[in-house]
Amino acid sequence: MNKEILLSAAANNAMPSGVRKMFELAKKYPDAINLTLGEPGFRTPEYVLEAAIESLRQGQTKYTPNAGIRPLREAIADKLWRENGIACDPDKNLIVTGGATQALMLAMVTLVNPGDEVILQGPNWPDYKGQIDMVNGKAVYARVSEKNGFKMTADVIEPLITEKTKLIIINSPSNPTGGVLDEEDLKGIAELVKKYKVFVISDEPYEKLVYDGFTQKSLAAIPGIEEYVLTINSFSKTFAMTGFRVGYICANERITEALIKLQENMIASIPEPMQKGAIEAIYKGDADVAEMVKYYDRNRHLIVEGLNSINGFSCHAPKGAFYVFPNITGFGMSSAEAAEYILEKTHVVTAPGSAFGEGGEGYIRICYAATYEKIEEALERMKKAFGTK
Ligand code: PMP
Repeated sequence: MNKEILLSAAANNAMPSGVRKMFELAKKYPDAINLTLGEPGFRTPEYVLEAAIESLRQGQTKYTPNAGIRPLREAIADKLWRENGIACDPDKNLIVTGGATQALMLAMVTLVNPGDEVILQGPNWPDYKGQIDMVNGKAVYARVSEKNGFKMTADVIEPLITEKTKLIIINSPSNPTGGVLDEEDLKGIAELVKKYKVFVISDEPYEKLVYDGFTQKSLAAIPGIEEYVLTINSFSKTFAMTGFRVGYICANERITEALIKLQENMIASIPEPMQKGAIEAIYKGDADVAEMVKYYDRNRHLIVEGLNSINGFSCHAPKGAFYVFPNITGFGMSSAEAAEYILEKTHVVTAPGSAFGEGGEGYIRICYAATYEKIEEALERMKKAFGTK
């Protein structure tokens, strides 16, 4: 019998990330300046490394509880109460995950049935869409606009809500736009949640990377929506710990019980040394985070002002994350063409807006978590290649 054995629909539909494609193309240029991936340029703080190394030395290399080790859950619950105003019982409302990426996948598996609609911002971080596809959900895009600081507010979400809407994903500060939602915006979303009774994931890995005096509030701090909100966060961006793969979900007891059960099937547990490092980050990390944010802010000023002086670019100043999302329609080409053109002419690697789904065309994403000197050099090359205004 000659029968073709098919892969899953999710595997067949998975699109290679437009960000990684640029990464690959850049390999041709030994002097390339890569400003694509959202990777902090800093080394992980020493006390985090020490705690992880000590844990390894003690032989803590076995399975841990599905929910994560209790001292880390206590530290996270303490942080959520102190910094976010979220009341979280470490035994009932928390699960430690493999970064925010695995937290999101676990949440999707726990909440979304095939055919359920998931509302998310367009443009957005592409992994959301990949994950929605993996659970056979349907992505519905709330288009955000540069004019409105790329905010996904209640008024753009509400017209998209149908009988099939199961989940809304909010992400402030946002990847790829750097846009933020303030307290009033969050209150508007909370009203929608009460009115339509839908789940909300608030994906907050960039919460500390904010500028111009802005403080990021958490949706879950708003009373009356506890049963609907899942707060997802991670140690990756805040503490330069992307490779540790530690994140978490805070949710109500019913959801958390289900998350913990399904975690057993997905990854079982997170390595103990990485969790030990995360505890140190929570208790000792404030000063380093403040330093890193100061550094990113200086880069942000440099890149926004630099790009706005170069022909072809018009760059909105974002209040959060470490990305700028400049408008490149001045180049008179698509975002994929523009990113490749910029690469060819300057060996500066950026990500085309089209890689971030609906609403991304007309823009490119540049990550400014690199060193100041690298960004300076990238801008110099672009000034030379395209001229200044
Ligand atoms: N959410 C957003 C919006 C992101 O940009 C990222 C990483 N780029 C993540 C979640 C996942 O981060 P991690 O898995 O490293 O915690």
